[in-house]
Amino acid sequence: MIAEPDGIAKVRIVKAPEMGFLERIYLVEVLKGLLVTSRHFFINLWRHMKKALGRETEPGAVTIQYPEDPAVVARRSRTHHRLLRREDGAPRCAACMLCETICPAKCIRIVAEESPDVMIEKRAKSFEIDLGRCVFCGFCVEACPVDAIRMDTGRVEMAAFWRTDMARDITQLLGERPRQ
Ligand code: SF4
Ligand code: SF4
Repeated sequence: MIAEPDGIAKVRIVKAPEMGFLERIYLVEVLKGLLVTSRHFFINLWRHMKKALGRETEPGAVTIQYPEDPAVVARRSRTHHRLLRREDGAPRCAACMLCETICPAKCIRIVAEESPDVMIEKRAKSFEIDLGRCVFCGFCVEACPVDAIRMDTGRVEMAAFWRTDMARDITQLLGERPRQ
């Protein structure tokens, strides 16, 4: 989808490249794949053997026994979202809709309502993020003018039986904690 200056989105159809004879018989491509896999296997085997012999080496790849052995997520990774509260406990979100507008996956849905606090114009009546569609770009965090949304929970698990279970509502988002 391409956004044109007139604001009308146009669809460009890209044709898949034609496969050559060698690609169509698959055998050569299968052998190429096996070659890549074997290369990685022997490089890793060599590194692990060197390490076992007490020699300095680059670390070899290891298999993580996930989920029993949880993967370590880098501290700066963008992980599940959370909504922050003000000092009085009220959600910080001012329902300005900037995050919903900038979201490239269109997976944020906010319904605004009037705030009972006279100093604040609006608040979010409902706030939903569909993690099944989110591309974890972090634009929503960047766009928020009041630092109401962050992606610092350290949680990356997304498994669900149903797509609808991947959506997070305002209560769930406010209940999330930052990673320790
Ligand atoms: S991380 Fe990106 S895709 Fe996900 S909700 Fe935020 S803006 Fe949308
Ligand atoms: S950008 Fe921030 S304040 Fe605005 S709707 Fe999103 S979370 Fe709320």
